[in-house]
Amino acid sequence: MGLVAVMSLKSLCTVAGRRLLDSILPPLCLGCGEIVETPGALCASCWPDFSFISAPHCACCGTPFAEDLGENALCVSCLGRRPRFRRARAALVYDARSRRLILPFKHGDRTDLARACGAWMARAGGDLLAEADLIVPVPLHWRRLFTRRYNQALLLARSVARQGEARLAPDLLRRSRWTGSQAGLVAKQRRSNVREAFDVHPRWRRALAGKTVLLVDDVLTTGATVEACARVLDRGGARHVDVLTLARVVRPAL
Ligand SMILES: [Zn+2]
Ligand SMILES: [Zn+2]
Repeated sequence: MGLVAVMSLKSLCTVAGRRLLDSILPPLCLGCGEIVETPGALCASCWPDFSFISAPHCACCGTPFAEDLGENALCVSCLGRRPRFRRARAALVYDARSRRLILPFKHGDRTDLARACGAWMARAGGDLLAEADLIVPVPLHWRRLFTRRYNQALLLARSVARQGEARLAPDLLRRSRWTGSQAGLVAKQRRSNVREAFDVHPRWRRALAGKTVLLVDDVLTTGATVEACARVLDRGGARHVDVLTLARVVRPAL
């Protein structure tokens, strides 16, 4: 069967059908669809195109640095204002290349990408995962869940949880207020838009007290959403809140 036929067959199938096909057909590169040796891998020519984030980076928010400034160095933004979370890490820079992987995952039902993405995230946030007690996805409002049918942050959180010992708390946070889209809003507007949008589900209140939480989302843009979540978790008695995302926006250094 030709490669194009394999790919179109896979994209036509339901998740269950695709899983079945994946077990019969050769694994394909997540970037371009070339045949690779192991499922969830990138081929040799796609690998360098993806901007994986590694040290050196800001000790707090994880913004990559061009040069090593020491283990505890902070970026200009964190020096000016410390975020509500303790540390944030991301696997990939959110750029044209990673967007081509993330958008189909987010909107196009490529839920099969969660496994590989979770493994990348666990690698990028190894320290955070090792210290976490609870893994909490950023929730979607039910209206958005209704149209999208799945919460991509939950799929990532589940996949990250498989790589460590921490307990997955899928519904610990609830999005109680409809905030619409954050797209097109600047940082300050985003912060006020999501303020008070989240709360802790009553059945998790006791389990949260004194725990270190690893908050999981797909993309970190300004950090407004995860900071709103971190504030609620803080108030709920969490000991620390760390953030792990699949990708993050990286602004050019000033
Ligand atoms: Zn490839
Ligand atoms: Zn920083």
